[in-house]
Amino acid sequence: MLLWFRNDLRVHDNPAVAYALAHGVTQAVFIATPEEWSKHHMAPIKVDLILRHVALLDAQLKQLGIDLTIIHGSDYNSQIDTILTHLESIQSNQVIVNQELELRERNRDEKLKQLGINIMAFEGDVIVPKGLVRNNSGAMFKVFTPFKKAWLNYVLNNGFSYIAKQESVSFNEHEVEPILPEITRQDSSKWPLSTDVEAVVIPEFLQTKIDKYHDQRDIPGIKGTSGLSAYLSIGAISPRYLLALLQNSYPDILHQQPSQAFSWLNELIWREFYRHLLWHFPDLIKHTNFNDKYDDLPWHNKVEHIEAWKQGRTGYPIVDAAMRQLNQTGWMHNRLRMIVASFLTKHLLVDWRIGEHYFMTKLVDGDFAANNGGWQWSAGTGCDAQPYFRVFNPISQSEKFDPTGKFIRKYLPELSDIPDKKIHFPHDYIAENHLDIYWPAIVEHKQARLKALDFYKQYTR
Ligand SMILES: Cc1cc2nc3c(=O)[nH]c(=O)nc-3n(C[C@H](O)[C@H](O)[C@H](O)COP(=O)(O)OP(=O)(O)OC[C@H]3O[C@@H](n4cnc5c(N)ncnc54)[C@H](O)[C@@H]3O)c2cc1C
Repeated sequence: MLLWFRNDLRVHDNPAVAYALAHGVTQAVFIATPEEWSKHHMAPIKVDLILRHVALLDAQLKQLGIDLTIIHGSDYNSQIDTILTHLESIQSNQVIVNQELELRERNRDEKLKQLGINIMAFEGDVIVPKGLVRNNSGAMFKVFTPFKKAWLNYVLNNGFSYIAKQESVSFNEHEVEPILPEITRQDSSKWPLSTDVEAVVIPEFLQTKIDKYHDQRDIPGIKGTSGLSAYLSIGAISPRYLLALLQNSYPDILHQQPSQAFSWLNELIWREFYRHLLWHFPDLIKHTNFNDKYDDLPWHNKVEHIEAWKQGRTGYPIVDAAMRQLNQTGWMHNRLRMIVASFLTKHLLVDWRIGEHYFMTKLVDGDFAANNGGWQWSAGTGCDAQPYFRVFNPISQSEKFDPTGKFIRKYLPELSDIPDKKIHFPHDYIAENHLDIYWPAIVEHKQARLKALDFYKQYTR
């Protein structure tokens, strides 16, 4: 039997690894697929995070008596060939994997099955297995709140599996040669390895931040969220481990009492919602509107607007600072993701797919299910989406969530001397003081809002 790592780059609470260990498997493989990654628009910073975790995995597996072969492949066809060759060399026709959610990945596994390979597939990317949270008619929920209720009931009634931690291995990535160095990547070293995240970041979050999470989660100038999305997106940290830790600290957490900590669980359940949704509706991967009544929207897609948005020069400081955070760090705060997505789709009438694509090319935590879900939520085309007539006002959002402009000043230092009250839309102040420090606003908010309402009303089927 061969253990095959894909989007599950961990040993801790990895059901495929547990099975392999219980059955004396000694051979594992990881096949990098840069051509496939570029088809998925994967950000080079995410590629780097993946390859660093593969190096860690190699050391961890050695300690468990499993030899990891790391191969530089190209696309999924090359993965199939490599698996067949490996299986032949160990005279087996069985691979052990954790399922992947996306359509091309599912199709690749089907092809292998058709070629006679026995795939023993586990599920390690969610807390509740996909397909097990359904409404009374047996279908997937189309609204988050009832999904959440059913999800919580499921966990209360059935529990969830969790495989406790193996002994940790000492690993210094600076002493290890980079694996597969010729693959294009961008330094992700600001993101510690998952072993450090488990040892330091998560305990610190649970001890000092989660009890303020609900109050601080929307404030981009405060580091009030966990910062775990990058690790969840490559399977380096298990969501079931997070729930196990949460239950240790808050034994009643599943009873849905509103609390600071429950708000965090709520976000993990949003993650589950979008993963279950993609499992039920695999064609979402084709970037179709979830709600086809929006299929006729004639998006304007003005090139100069798209470029200004991407480069952070729309003249709306909160939007521009957010886009610079994305461009400079590979991550963006959730509140800001909602603001910039709303601005692109509703103020600029640019197709949400253009924003979805740009995010993927930059995000260290790029994840199809959450990204597609977030973009369709923002554009109003998605499942349980923000209604089209709710158009975020980027000025009042900025006043509410970045009142002193702390976040704006960090990414737009050119505005650092603007008074707090003026920083959210500094154009009058800039004109009065004859400054030449910032871009004019590319659209006027009130007019853009009315135009958006008209656009959606007119073209919705
Ligand atoms: C337009 C848009 C695009 C997005 N693209 C992605 C993406 O590509 N990858 C990604 O992981 N998240 C995406 N999100 C969701 C969210 O912004 C990030 O998960 C969050 O900012 C990560 O920060 P954190 O780990 O500190 O989150 P925390 O607030 O600590 O939340 C804990 C975990 O819950 C999950 N989570 C939190 N919010 C959401 C949400 N709204 N939807 C789904 N899962 C959530 C994440 O896995 C996160 O790590 C997107 C949201 C929007 C609005």
